[in-house]
Amino acid sequence: MIKDNIKDILSKLPQGVELVAAAKKRTAVEILEAIDAGIKIVGENYVQEAQKVIEVIGSRAQWHFIGHMQKNKVRKAVKLFDMIETVDSYEIAYAIDTECKKISRVMPVLIEINSGKEKQKFGVLPEDAEAVVKQISSLSNISVNGLMTMGPFMGEPEDFRPYFIRTRQLFEKLKEKELPDVEMKYLSMGMTSSYKTAIEEGANMVRIGTLIFGERRYS
Ligand SMILES: *Cc1c(COP(=O)(O)O)cnc(C)c1O
Repeated sequence: MIKDNIKDILSKLPQGVELVAAAKKRTAVEILEAIDAGIKIVGENYVQEAQKVIEVIGSRAQWHFIGHMQKNKVRKAVKLFDMIETVDSYEIAYAIDTECKKISRVMPVLIEINSGKEKQKFGVLPEDAEAVVKQISSLSNISVNGLMTMGPFMGEPEDFRPYFIRTRQLFEKLKEKELPDVEMKYLSMGMTSSYKTAIEEGANMVRIGTLIFGERRYS
């Protein structure tokens, strides 16, 4: 089933759009099946959970962190992940930079935008994004590679469109500024219910879980 789902999605994705398999709560066996079917990037929300599957699967996939990064998880995370998609403050970026220095690596990151401006949501407000990107770009062991957004939790794919448009416009604006040490390469937006809308609005990275693996079982 996982294989068929992936083949189907990959056959419909426009060229240049990267598929991230959002794998929270999935087993190493399920993730390996996804990799066999052509998945190159796996997204994980929890550092501890990711560590377990990465121990088994290792570099057969690239690993993107897509959850909320907590400061006390940064040391472990910089050793596990190839990209952190959810940097939402200078403070967390500074912590990532500090830990990356210790192991002599540069971490590609996306800046998470709170495009719905919801109080309970993580992410940088659109109006603060330029200032935060500039500040973070001064950190030498971090490389700003683009933006990520979730959009508000809502039912209809169409409801996401204004938030995707807002984030894409921000992405374009920052790209045009050609800020030093900033490469606006990836625009990560869209999940199972909204990825088609996200692609229409310029996403070149989509994060899909349910449509690949089926409904999540929460225990
Ligand atoms: C779970 C998750 C997804 C995928 O959600 P689905 O609706 O299962 O496709 C995408 N992005 C993030 C940040 C997630 O946590």
